[in-house]
Amino acid sequence: MTASHSTQGPDKPDVETAIIGAGFGGLCMAIALKKSGRRSFVILEKEADAGGTWLVNRYPGCACDVPSHLYSYSFELNANWSRAYSPQPEIHAYVQRCVDKYDLAPHIRFNTELEQAQFDEAAGLWRLQTAGGDTLTARTLVGALGFLNLPAIPDIPGRDTFEGTSFHSRYWNEDCDLTGKRVAVIGTGASAIQFVPQIAPKVGALTVFQRTPPWVLPKPDRPVTGFEHWLFRHVPAVQRAIRGGIYWALECLAIPFIRRPKAMRMFERLGKWHMRRQVPDSALREKLTPSYRLGCKRILFSNDYYPSLTKPGVEVVTDAVTEITPAGVVTEDGRHHDVDVIIYGTGFKATDPVPRGLIIGSGNRDIVDAWDDGPEAYLGTAVSGFPNLFFIIGPNTGLGHSSMIFMIESQVAYIAEAVASLQNAGARSLELKPKVQQRYNEDIQKKLKKTVWLTGGCRSWYLHPSGKNVTLWPGFTWQFRRRTRRFSISDYTVSSG
Ligand code: NAP
Repeated sequence: MTASHSTQGPDKPDVETAIIGAGFGGLCMAIALKKSGRRSFVILEKEADAGGTWLVNRYPGCACDVPSHLYSYSFELNANWSRAYSPQPEIHAYVQRCVDKYDLAPHIRFNTELEQAQFDEAAGLWRLQTAGGDTLTARTLVGALGFLNLPAIPDIPGRDTFEGTSFHSRYWNEDCDLTGKRVAVIGTGASAIQFVPQIAPKVGALTVFQRTPPWVLPKPDRPVTGFEHWLFRHVPAVQRAIRGGIYWALECLAIPFIRRPKAMRMFERLGKWHMRRQVPDSALREKLTPSYRLGCKRILFSNDYYPSLTKPGVEVVTDAVTEITPAGVVTEDGRHHDVDVIIYGTGFKATDPVPRGLIIGSGNRDIVDAWDDGPEAYLGTAVSGFPNLFFIIGPNTGLGHSSMIFMIESQVAYIAEAVASLQNAGARSLELKPKVQQRYNEDIQKKLKKTVWLTGGCRSWYLHPSGKNVTLWPGFTWQFRRRTRRFSISDYTVSSG
C-alpha cells in the first residue's frame, strides 16, 4: 500500500474512503459502502484480525452486558447466540462471519497502524501515513477507532519498580499462570467485575483495590435453549420481535438517566437487595455500598462478582493506593500489600480518544488542540476544521442504557450519505460550518446538565477534566436516529473544483 500504486492524477485519491479500524463501526461502514455499490475503500487495522474491542479484550469472563439479541447489526441477526448475554469469543466469531459474508477481507489491511492523517487543503484529500512507512491518499476519512481503545494506567509512584508481573485488563497476559499467586486488582469497573470472579477461585490470595464502589445489579443471563435456536433459525420474525421488545424496554430506561434521575432509587433498592442476598458480612457490604446515584457511573450487571468477594483469601481494600514498590502495593494507611501480580482494571482514556499527531486538519491543526476543552463534534460525527472526516462513535454518542450498535448504524447511514453527496456535488471537500457544531453542542450540553451523569454526585470517566460530559448522548436512541437520518449539505461549506 504505497502512493506509487496510484495511477491517477495528483488530485485523485488512491481510494475514495479510508476507514480506520475494523471493529463493529468500521466494518458496518464498509458494508454500507459496498451495499451502495462503492468499491473504492480500504480499512486500516492495526491488529492482525477484525473485531476491535471484541478482539483485543480477552480477559477471563469477558462478555457483553447488553442483551445478545440487540448486540448485532440490525441487518444481520444471529440465531445462534448461546446465552442471553454473549461471551467475547462468540461476539468475535460473529464479527468474523460478517467479514466473510460481506467479503470485506480484500479491503482490510491488517497489521497496519495509522501514524498520521493530514488533510491536504489544496487537493481536498487526506494523506495517510502508516507506522510501517506506507502512504495513501483518500477523499474521505472515517475514524472508527472506538472511544475505549487507549488503556488508562494510573501514574502511581513507583509503578515501574514492581518486580512481579503486571498488566492491564486489555492486555491480558495469557502466559501468566495466576494459580496460587498473590494477586492485586486495581479498579472495580465493568472489566474487573467480569474477571475477578474468574480468577478468585484459582489465585492464592486476591486483594481488590476499590476506589469507588460500583452499583451492581443482577444480570438476567441464561443459556438460550435448543428450541429457541430452532425458532430463531426457522421463524426469524420471532427473534426480530424479541429484539424490538428489548430495544423499547431499554429505551424506557433512558428516562431516569436523562430526565428523572431520582427514579433511579428503585434500581438502587434492587442493587442493595442483590448485595444483601450475596454478601452476608455487613462490614463488607458497607465497603461495597455506593454513595452516589445509580447510573451516574456505568451500571454493572453481575451474578458472581459479590460472591467472589466473600471467598476466603479475597480482601477488598478501600484505602487509596499511594505507591507501588518492587514487592507490592502501598495504601494511604501505610500498609504494604505483598503481591506477585498486579492487574490494572483501570479503564480507558475515554475523554481523550485520539492521540496527539494522529489527525491533522485544515491549517495544520491537530485535533487534540481543537479538542482542548474536550472532544466535540456534530452528531458525534463531523468536526469543523476537519473536512471530509467523519467519526463513528465520536464525542457524545455513548450510551448508559442501550446498544452502541444502534448508534453505529445511525452514524454509518449519515456518513454514507455524506460520501454520496460529496461525490454527487463533484466537490473536493465538505467542511462542517462552525456555527452548526457550536449550536448542536450548546444544546446537548444544556440537556446533559439535567442528566444523572452530572447530577448524580460522582466523578466518572464520562467527564472531561473540564467538567463537560463529552462521551454520552443525552437522549433516546431513536432521537439520535432521527437526527442522523438525513445528511443536510447546507450544514457544510462545499469546496468545488
Ligand atoms: P472503568 O469502568 O473505567 O473502571 C476503571 C476502574 O478503575 C474504576 O473502578 C476506577 O475507579 C478504577 N481506577 C482508575 N484509576 C484508579 C486509581 N488510580 N486507583 C484506584 N482505582 C482506579 O474501566 P473498565 O472496567 O475497563 O470498563 C471500561 C468501559 O468498558 C466500561 O465502562 C464499559 O463501557 C466498557 N465495557 C463494556 C463491557 C460490556 O459488556 N459492554 C464490558 C467491559 C467493559 P473510580 O470508579 O473511582 O474511577
